[in-house]
Amino acid sequence: MLLTDLLREIKEIEQKYGRTPGSVRLLAVSKTQPAEKIYPFLNYGHRLFGENRVQEAASKWPALRANFSNIELHLIGPLQTNKISQALDLFDVIETLDRPNLLTAIAQKWSPKSRTKEFYIQVNTGEEPQKAGVQPSKFEELYTLATQSYQLPITGLMCIPPVSEDPTPHFTLLTHIAENYGIPNISMGMSHDFPAAIACGSTLIRLGTRIFGEKV
Ligand SMILES: *Cc1c(COP(=O)(O)O)cnc(C)c1O
Repeated sequence: MLLTDLLREIKEIEQKYGRTPGSVRLLAVSKTQPAEKIYPFLNYGHRLFGENRVQEAASKWPALRANFSNIELHLIGPLQTNKISQALDLFDVIETLDRPNLLTAIAQKWSPKSRTKEFYIQVNTGEEPQKAGVQPSKFEELYTLATQSYQLPITGLMCIPPVSEDPTPHFTLLTHIAENYGIPNISMGMSHDFPAAIACGSTLIRLGTRIFGEKV
């Protein structure tokens, strides 16, 4: 099984950079993959998956959850306010909180009984105008709104560095923000840059291509 090799590689990278063994979890990004492609990983025992679209997740995961227990599903793509109720029923973790009006709308619908138990804030570390995520300079305001005004369980941060830049300064920035605010989970690192993310303190790497091959 391909996952055996990948999990061993992750262990070796943890060790190389002095990370605590087992401190980096692997999120298998199954977007665009049909259920048949996901089954082998569930049968192998993997339980942590990510999807970037609410609609697509709704069409695949209820059936998969009916057959396998303890699945942990993360939303890693943008969330529109009209999909919030559906997202709160589908995802254990929503990683893409990034703007005040989204927080306000979530706060109206979320309760501790929702399937979603944890939220991450997405940070636009590269300050790219077209990209989702809160600007680093606006982080404090958004974090305060989420945790103080709305009492949402913010347990992590997420970033996607600009494609054409060295990702290390972006990973370092995200880790610094997490440390400053005492936020335990740091979602960063994709197929092409996960070793650097692990070196910088990632606790959750999000791999699609490396696990499932090129997108179908
Ligand atoms: C698709 C996607 C990934 C996985 O990307 P790969 O390069 O295929 O590993 C990770 N994070 C997000 C937010 C994605 O949309």
